[in-house]
Amino acid sequence: MGRVTRTAPDPPPDLRALRPRLPSPLQEIEDEPFARRGVRLLLKRDDLIHPDLPGNKWRKLAPNLRAAAAAGERALLTFGGAYSNHLRATAAAGRLLGFATIGVVRGDELAGAPLNRSLARCAADGMRLHFIDRAAYRRKTEADVLAALHDRFGAFRVIPEGGSNALAAQGCAELGRELRGAADTVAVACGTGGTLAGLAAGLAPGQRALGVPVLKGGTPHFLQKTVEELQRAAFGAPRGDWRLETRFHCGGYARSTPQLDAFADAFAARHGLPLERVYVAKLLHGLTTLVEEGAFPPGSTVAAVVTGTP
Ligand SMILES: *Cc1c(COP(=O)(O)O)cnc(C)c1O
Repeated sequence: MGRVTRTAPDPPPDLRALRPRLPSPLQEIEDEPFARRGVRLLLKRDDLIHPDLPGNKWRKLAPNLRAAAAAGERALLTFGGAYSNHLRATAAAGRLLGFATIGVVRGDELAGAPLNRSLARCAADGMRLHFIDRAAYRRKTEADVLAALHDRFGAFRVIPEGGSNALAAQGCAELGRELRGAADTVAVACGTGGTLAGLAAGLAPGQRALGVPVLKGGTPHFLQKTVEELQRAAFGAPRGDWRLETRFHCGGYARSTPQLDAFADAFAARHGLPLERVYVAKLLHGLTTLVEEGAFPPGSTVAAVVTGTP
């Protein structure tokens, strides 16, 4: 073999090096409220896909990272709140794959304050944090705001808030495909709706997807339209049989109620599985309420997607 004498460009990052655990495990659990109604409960353990990019964050980021690598882009800029799982996952991906990362954080009042644990983790992974006020944050997809960010940070690929774009929905379709034939209803907690958009598209005909928003929305819920638009962008048309169950937000994003806390503690004690509280606990609490209301016929199977870790 001759020696390579020219300077080779850096090889594009290879996501296989991250060794994701795919397909994610599917576990049946014996849970009393479900068993009493003759309904099987399965947990789709997306939380086990990767220690640093768990759950839907892996599924949504992976196609975006591949596209960035293929285009020769080496910097990623994305958006999130001070506790965003998506910011943490993007920062981890940057460290593991050699992308520069910039996190635009909602709330300029945070700029002078000590970083919370989530943002400290992002910074430790090399993410440059940039705090902007709430008014600018709301306009973050507008040309002048992006132009100002380019002036400051140079070239970058934009990944939207929550990582939900057409590529992300396509990545999450694989979640649906992994669940074909396994359940009658597949339920997932929703933030920006990208996971539900893809999941519903990947399921087989006859399977239903159920989204449980953790944010309080109006009527109709803003997510209804967002999911439809993401499906159009990703697949050309609305896909699959899906609907939203909007009763289980427990007051809104990152809010809780004594009932939700008690439910999550009891579930963790019953199954030795601590639940991520912002999304996963609300999902399982909602499903438990639904099964007690008789929403699922006896003999049917419900799969709950465990999208993240506590
Ligand atoms: C981000 C996140 C979600 C929400 O996913 P969307 O695609 O934004 O709806 C659900 N669960 C967990 C644990 C998350 O981190």
